[in-house]
This record gives sequence, C-alpha cells and structure tokens, in this order.
Amino acid sequence: MYYFSDSYEQGRTKFLAVCKKNNLVVESHINPRAKSPSGEDLAMDVVWCGAKDATKVFLVTCGTHGLEAATGSATIVQWLHQKQHLTLAEDCAVLLIHAVNAYGWAYNSRTNEDNIDLNRNFLNHKAVHPKNKNYAKLKNLIKIEEINSETLKKSIDNFHQFASEKGIFNAIQAITAGQYEDASGIGYGGNQDSWSKKVLIEVVKSKLKHARKVVSIDWHTGIGKYGLPFFISQDQVGSKKYKMASQWWQTAIHSDDIFDEGISPDYNGLLIQGLRDELHKLSKPDVLTVVIEIGTYDLDSMLQALIMDNWLRQNLNNQSSQRVRQTLRLVERFYPSMPEWRASVLSHAQLIYQQTLNGLSNW
Ligand SMILES: [Zn+2]
Repeated sequence: MYYFSDSYEQGRTKFLAVCKKNNLVVESHINPRAKSPSGEDLAMDVVWCGAKDATKVFLVTCGTHGLEAATGSATIVQWLHQKQHLTLAEDCAVLLIHAVNAYGWAYNSRTNEDNIDLNRNFLNHKAVHPKNKNYAKLKNLIKIEEINSETLKKSIDNFHQFASEKGIFNAIQAITAGQYEDASGIGYGGNQDSWSKKVLIEVVKSKLKHARKVVSIDWHTGIGKYGLPFFISQDQVGSKKYKMASQWWQTAIHSDDIFDEGISPDYNGLLIQGLRDELHKLSKPDVLTVVIEIGTYDLDSMLQALIMDNWLRQNLNNQSSQRVRQTLRLVERFYPSMPEWRASVLSHAQLIYQQTLNGLSNW
C-alpha cells in the first residue's frame, strides 16, 4: 500500500478504508461551512484505538496547517495498516484525529475556510488579542500583486531589508507569531473560535475525561532538515517533561528555538497549548505535548511559501495556468514529492510511534 495521497479526497478514502479493514469505528465531524472543490464533505475523522477506559492516551493530530496533512495522514495510515493498534498495552489507547483542517488540505492552503491559521486560533478570543506591532509594518513590504519568480524574490529581499533594520528576531516574529488585525493576511489567528477548534475541544472533552496521562503529537512540515523530524517542545529546557521527552524519543528536542540563530518567536494561540489548557480544566491529567515538524526547504523558500499561500488564497477563483503552476510549487514546499523524502518520513514516523507508546506504557 502507498500511504501518501495526492489530494484530501484520496487521503480521506485511504484513512477510512484502513479503519474499515480493521473494524475501527470512525466518528466523522463534517464541516458545515464548506465542501471540497469537487463538492465532497470536508471532515474531521476521529478514531479511538484500544480500551475505552484506558487511562493513558496517545493523541495524534495532523493537518492543523491544511496541506501539511498529507504527511501526518501517511504516518497514521501506515501505523494502522501495519496493525500497530493491536499491540497496545492494556492501559493505553490511541486517539487519531485525521485532518484538523480538511479545508486547507482540500484547497492546498495552510489556512482554513476563513483564512485562519488554526495554529494561532487556540486562545481566549474574549480577552484582548496579543499585539503584533511589526506585522503591520512588514505586510506591505512583502505583499505581491502578481505572482512570479521576480515578485517573490523582491518580496523576500524586502523581508531581509526589514530584518537588517529591525533585527531578524522582529522580522520573523512579525510574520510567524500570529496576528489578529488583518483577516486576509498571513498568520491571521481569527477573532473567534474556528469550527475546527470547537470540534477538537469537544472531542478531547468527551474522549479524554478519564485520562490520567496524555501525550500529544501534532504533525507539521516545513521546519528542520530535509526529510528529518524536528521536535518542538513547549516545556522549558531542563524541566522534568523536557528531559522525559528527550528520553522517550532519544533525539534532540528543541524548545521554541527553531532557527539557527536561537530565535524563539512567541507564538500565540498554538493548538497544543489550547489542548493543554482544556485538559487542565477537565481532569488535570499529566500532559506531554510536542509538535513534530518534518523538514522540507530552507528558511527563504518557506517564507516565500507563506507569501505564495496568501496570494493563492486571495485569488482562489483565478483559474489561470500561472495559478495552477504556483499551487504545485507551494504544495512541493510543504510536501516534497521526492521518494527519498517520503521514505524517510515513514521510517522515522514508525519509530516515533513505537517510542511514544513505549514511553506512555512506562510513564
Ligand atoms: Zn505547520
């Protein structure tokens, strides 16, 4: 079986088929606000593997950033296809969430039906939103009217010019920390809970009531070395959880220092933070959360990809060959087609799932 998919529909079909083959019950939450380009349902599919009353739960989410789902989905389908769910310890269960942002996957974008970056949406929208003062200064410098190699290059040149004046930290913070003022811009976190956030929180509340220990992995792509996993922990370097994570996965765990310069943007509204807060309100289980990125291309290529994504979203109805070409380029940035990249994803993911379940059963 080939685990990777070329589209959301194909990915969902593979996931549902492997669940059916293994007699796993799928709970499908259909997005009432949108359909796929071919008119199909956009769903957040939820599957529980293992004993219903298990107190230790491994929660897997993918596709928080839409098109990045293709990779996380492949790791889940592989795990199920290899029947790893039959090897769970008695007190352990796995909760799989297939495509937090199906809309973004179906439309080849990182954001949802309202251009919300879901990984900036998991905060309290009744409180005053965090300010991102540099975003407003940077946005017009990197904005493009036409999309082609020259305009994209110019945009990145302007980014570096801004960085040389304001500092690289402030430039990266401006574009990646999240912003709550410009609904059509990059990194928009929304001004209310998205459909995906509401559904995910409800799922977590109903399924994890009895959980005492929860480990959560949110799969992403785009940061790190080509084809290799890059672990981002929210726990402080040197803390007990941080040490535990380093032991479980026996790999370099990073705090939010994702760039070589040791820069730590203060991300707002992260999904894993939102889940932690919700679990804490629920039954106060012990929680270990990590984001696992699979590296694709260099920083400039990925900054360019954010600009491409934003332009493509603003021009969703433009059917020109230029738009089609740029969409393919964008997908490649987050989901490389090279067989070696994909083989590396699968072999690392296989090990990561094993290590996680080993860690959880001994926790
Ligand atoms: Zn991502």
